[in-house]
This record gives sequence, structure tokens and C-alpha cells, in this order.
Amino acid sequence: MILDTQDLSKRAASAIEEADQFAQRHLAPNAAQWGQGLFDRRALFEPAGAAGLLGLQVPHEFGGLGLSFGDKVKVLHKLAQSDFSAAMALVNSHNVAAQLVKASPHELAPRYVSHLMRGSIVACTALTEPGAGSDLGQLQTTAIRQGDGWLLNGSKTWIINAAHADGVVVYAQTQAGSGVKGIAAFFVLADSPGFERVEVVTNSALSSMGIGGFRLTNVYCDSSHLLYQPGKAFVDIMGAINRARTYVAAMCCAMVTQALNDVSVYGHKRTAFGQSLDQYQGWRWQIAQAATALQAGELLVRDACERIDKGDEVQTAAAQAKLYATSMAQTQLGSLLHAMGAEGFLDRYAFLRHLTAAHTASLADGSTAMLLERVANDYRFKPGAT
Ligand SMILES: Cc1cc2nc3c(=O)[nH]c(=O)nc-3n(C[C@H](O)[C@H](O)[C@H](O)COP(=O)(O)OP(=O)(O)OC[C@H]3O[C@@H](n4cnc5c(N)ncnc54)[C@H](O)[C@@H]3O)c2cc1C
Repeated sequence: MILDTQDLSKRAASAIEEADQFAQRHLAPNAAQWGQGLFDRRALFEPAGAAGLLGLQVPHEFGGLGLSFGDKVKVLHKLAQSDFSAAMALVNSHNVAAQLVKASPHELAPRYVSHLMRGSIVACTALTEPGAGSDLGQLQTTAIRQGDGWLLNGSKTWIINAAHADGVVVYAQTQAGSGVKGIAAFFVLADSPGFERVEVVTNSALSSMGIGGFRLTNVYCDSSHLLYQPGKAFVDIMGAINRARTYVAAMCCAMVTQALNDVSVYGHKRTAFGQSLDQYQGWRWQIAQAATALQAGELLVRDACERIDKGDEVQTAAAQAKLYATSMAQTQLGSLLHAMGAEGFLDRYAFLRHLTAAHTASLADGSTAMLLERVANDYRFKPGAT
């Protein structure tokens, strides 16, 4: 249903077609190897750029496709069916290109956006620190005025693409004790003196996202690389997080869609006790449960996408979509894996990678606890609200 192709613009239809071909050519055959470090993850970006996948929401005048949010989600859904982690890596770099256009159309966008869209450089967004995850007000990375620029010090961790990024959007505190109001955002180049990568050693689904960290020691950032002033950075990131929650929810639906496709094909050809698995009611009911849960997830995603494209309030809708879709994927991918028997553990299927990915999805862009708080806040002063 997310991939409902009615009312698609020509541009969106061709982007979805490109995504499909890219997924078949580059993602499906290589995804298992990336996680094991047997394939250069950066090798993904240039072919993705050539397919237009790194400029989905970058406006036309900057060479992008200028798609709506809902259409971008359809493209991501296609990619995530093959490999959630690769889709996350690509969209995170894409988002920085779109952000540079929005925040610095005359200065930073002309310098970096065409390279980001081609995939010749890669970027990421860094909020999380060793001591601050859910509680962003606790960020310890500092930005202190120095001459015409800023001096940055601190550490970031659990950042998608940080293992290989050339440019990083760093969120840093400009005024101790001021909480989120003092946070500003900077575009920092990874070859700046004082920038040092820190490896995050983890399992395959995460390593194929290029998860990593870095330390900043007196990294100088000139004022043209200040993306958002103190105060504005937090407002911007909250908007971005609502959009990310929505597409992560869609990508969780995509993983379940793919699993259902694989299970249906396998259940038809695999026989046991004289008939195919899909002839057994007990086996079919697992599939029916998954298909029903998937449809509910897709409806929540669709609602959030429509709100975003209309410019409506989306905080609660995005939180609900991600809450439901991540937990639906965690449950249903496990159950669909079981329905495959041992076959489901083979590398040529995505079940195991995607099961891990569904668990990581419940932390990235706001953990389940944070989303529940978001939804609860909406209901706090409305007894009887339905
Ligand atoms: C796959 C993946 C990709 C990521 N990509 C990025 C990225 O690109 N950029 C980036 O900046 N960060 C990224 N992160 C980090 C992510 O944003 C954090 O993991 C997330 O914000 C949670 O922070 P934490 O892991 O430090 O957990 P903590 O904040 O330490 O929380 C630990 C546990 O306690 C719970 N908890 C926290 N506070 C409360 C509360 N008030 N009430 C009840 N329970 C609570 C949480 O839900 C969680 O279950 C990524 C993480 C993952 C797993």
C-alpha cells in the first residue's frame, strides 16, 4: 500500500523504477557481504548517485529530483526491501545534501551538494554521544567562539556513515547549562585537523550502515560552516526526526513486505507430509497475522506521510507510526523466519539481517520509550480523548 502507484508523478515513478533496479543490481547480491566487511560499503554511493537516489528531495535548481516526502518514502521502501541498512546509509547522506540546501543555499550548498548527490562524498548527522543518547539536552560536545569561527571539542558515537563519511553535521553546545537552547549545528569536514574516527565494533546489520564515531579535538570551523545558530538547530532537528521516524516506519514495513513475499513463494513450493506448506491452515495463519499487522503499519505510515506533505502537525502521528511499525517488524520477522524453517537462515534471504535491523530501528531517531512519552503527552490533559 505504501507503494500504491496511483497519482504518482512521472518523476516519482521513474525514481521508484531506478530504486528497484539499483536494489536488484547492487543491494540484494551484496548485502550479506557488507555486514561481514567483505565489500567496500562506500562502493554503494556512486551507483546510487548515478541512479538519482542521493538527490530525491534536493530541489531541481540544485540538480535533485525535488520529490515530495511521500514519494521519497516510496523509493526508500523499495531499497529497504532488499537491505534496510544500506537504505539507511544512503538516506542519511541524502538528508545532509537536502539540509545544506535549506540552511546554506548560497555558501555550503554550491560547494558540496553536487558531490553528495553524485556519491563522490558521503555525509552523516551526529547528535549521539557516549554520554548522551535520548537526552539531547545533555550533549557535552562544545563549540566555543574563536575569531571568525568556532572551536569544537567532544565525541560522537553510533552515527550512521561515520565510519566513512567525508562531512559530518555536528550538534554542539555553545553555552554550558543552556540545554537544547544552546545547541548549534556545524558542517565539519572529516579531514579537518583534530578530527579522529573512533571505530564502533558491532554486528553485521549495524556495520553495513557504516556505524561509527569520532573525536573532535580543537577542530576549527569557520563561520560559513555554521549550519544552524544556537536555538534554531534543535527546532530543525526535531522536524527532521519526525520525518525520519516516518521513513524508518515505512522501511520496517518494507522488510515485512519482503519477508511475506519470500515466505509465500517458499511455502508454495516446499512440501511436508504430502502437500505444500501453504495448504496447512496452521502455517497460513502466521502469514495472515503478518499481512494484517503490515497493513495496519502501512496505514499509520501513510497518514504520517500525508501530514508531512500537507505541512500539518506530525509529531504524534510519526511517533505512532514508528512505534507500531518497529515492534510489528520485530514480531513478524521472527514469526515469518520460523515459517521458512531452516531455509530462512540462508544468507540469500534478508530475514536475519532484517530482524536485527528491526531492533536497531526501535532505537534510532527516538527510542520506543521516547515515542511512548510523545504519544502519552498528547493524551495527558485530555481525559476521555479517543
Ligand atoms: C542503528 C542505529 C543508528 C543510529 N544512527 C544515529 C545517527 O545517525 N546519528 C545519531 O546522532 N545517533 C544515531 N543513533 C543513536 C540513537 O539515536 C540512540 O541510540 C538513541 O537516541 C538512544 O540513545 P542511547 O542508545 O544512548 O540510549 P539511552 O538514552 O541511554 O537509553 C537506554 C534505554 O533507556 C530508555 N530510556 C531512556 N530514557 C528513558 C526515560 N525517560 N523513560 C524510560 N526509558 C528511558 C531508552 O528507551 C533505552 O531503551 C543510532 C542508533 C542506532 C541503534
